[in-house]
Amino acid sequence: MRLGLSIASQSDMTSLSNPIKTVKEESMVDLPTCFFLALAAILTLFQAYYAFESAGYAKLPVDKSAAIASAGAGGIAKKSSEAHPLHGAKAAVSADRSTAPLPDASMAVYIDATVWETDPVAPILLYHKFKTNGPSTLTMVSRLDFAEDLEKLYQNGYVTISLERWLAGDIRVPEGKRPLVLSMDDLFFRNQITLTPEGEPAADTGIGVAWEFYKNNPDFGFHWALFSNLGDKPYGTGSQEEQQIELARTIVWCIEHDAKVYNHTFRHVDLKNTKGLGITAELWENDKHLRRLLTLVDRPDLIPGLQNMVALPGGKWPRVGDAQTALYGYTDPEGKKVQAIFNVDYISRPDFLAAPYARSFDPVNLPRMVANLKAVDYLVENKETVPAASSCKIGPLTDVQSNDPDFLDEQILAMIQNGQCPQGVYATEHFIFSANDERVELIQKVEESFQP
Ligand SMILES: [Zn+2]
Repeated sequence: MRLGLSIASQSDMTSLSNPIKTVKEESMVDLPTCFFLALAAILTLFQAYYAFESAGYAKLPVDKSAAIASAGAGGIAKKSSEAHPLHGAKAAVSADRSTAPLPDASMAVYIDATVWETDPVAPILLYHKFKTNGPSTLTMVSRLDFAEDLEKLYQNGYVTISLERWLAGDIRVPEGKRPLVLSMDDLFFRNQITLTPEGEPAADTGIGVAWEFYKNNPDFGFHWALFSNLGDKPYGTGSQEEQQIELARTIVWCIEHDAKVYNHTFRHVDLKNTKGLGITAELWENDKHLRRLLTLVDRPDLIPGLQNMVALPGGKWPRVGDAQTALYGYTDPEGKKVQAIFNVDYISRPDFLAAPYARSFDPVNLPRMVANLKAVDYLVENKETVPAASSCKIGPLTDVQSNDPDFLDEQILAMIQNGQCPQGVYATEHFIFSANDERVELIQKVEESFQP
């Protein structure tokens, strides 16, 4: 532990010179200091050269590897005290590598990569309003049916994912699980979400049902994409100001619990019959109002994190010409260009969100399926059309290596060739690789947020 700490405080070269420290402290303490220093200097040079060569750093200028290391320190999924860095699959590539002194075993890191053996897709279900009694209709799902939907999806391996993260290139899903996006339109109705006096979503609201389900089944996750119309309905029966404050607090809860709020126009207009200026005004006014609400309850700090995504009311596209230009060219109050546009359809024409690297991925025409009972049954009966994730632990690696795509691709290739990992698309926190037993290629870097 003491060694690990002293090493971590040095430069990015330290994990490579670590072996020298081990030699010094364990077996050479009784040698004269000058002799040791000379020997250590020679060894250091030799070790540094050796490690650079075999770790692939020769390809990278030093400043680049340092930048990657500092930018991606969060990419380490797990530290292990069992294995030796530099002694894994790399041994297959470089035979005499096993003679190299090993860094402190406690420094070894492993990356949990999601492996997609076939290209992943994620269904996006679209909910609307909720009711407490009676049978579900197309746009009003009963609380009971909704709870059953979630249970069925969960039992069949689905877990919810963050739409924003997927679009940004983060397509990691736990092993054996199928990705699912939950979305909701026409917010904010009180049957969709109302907060209790304790500040939790009420159990008799749609989001309340999902929140309760998540608390009982945390691995199902709680991620929502909420498309709001903030200008076409009241929120409760209090005074205008009371309503606005309550709505604003509800929105803050949503954003802080990864139920992100996006744009569905201010008054739910039919874009097919709206001209360009009208479309811009509807999107802009909804965005402005969202920001006013956040400011009203002293949470302007949430504004920079807002994304610019639009769901078409009723799935209706603007006519060609200035109306379409207005939609595609819409820029939010912070100057963010429109990042994604969402359509809507029925499960009779099943269509799922593709991987962000896929040729079929079109950010300005992303498919959603109305979440009626038929749609949920379809996803259960046809779950094989939504591949489940595999996984593989990549390593052992050093801190620096674990964030270096040039090293990771070699490590993945060696592990596939050793039969330790399957072929497929590899997703880590920062990268997506396409990998078979002959070639591993970096195909996408994960962005902080989605940049179309
Ligand atoms: Zn709508």
